Amino acid sequence: MGKEFICIVCPKGCRIKVDDNENITGYTCLRGLNYVKEELTCPKRMLTSTVKVSNRKDTYVSVKTSSSISKDLLLDVMKELKKIRVEAPISMHQVLIKNIFNTDIDIISTKEVK
Ligand code: SF4
Repeated sequence: MGKEFICIVCPKGCRIKVDDNENITGYTCLRGLNYVKEELTCPKRMLTSTVKVSNRKDTYVSVKTSSSISKDLLLDVMKELKKIRVEAPISMHQVLIKNIFNTDIDIISTKEVK
């Protein structure tokens, strides 16, 4: 049966195939090979979302993970972000949650709130 992936590491978007014997073909560079190996073992994604600002009416600050995080954790992180409140002023790239779920990944702001 095998699997096919579109590599998302660069805009070229190579089609990378994995056959039933786990032979990987179709990548143009090692980054693509490593991407598919990671997709097969522990897929990760960058997460972007928003967090409510407690001291500004109807205000949310946009946030993202400091690096890509295991797909298994995405839902739990989203739930956590829904629960928390942060206080303005918030600067760009401010760490709002350090080391979320002991992943060594931070939640950082992608917008300034004065
Ligand atoms: S395999 Fe390499 S060249 Fe192809 S899309 Fe991935 S990163 Fe780009």
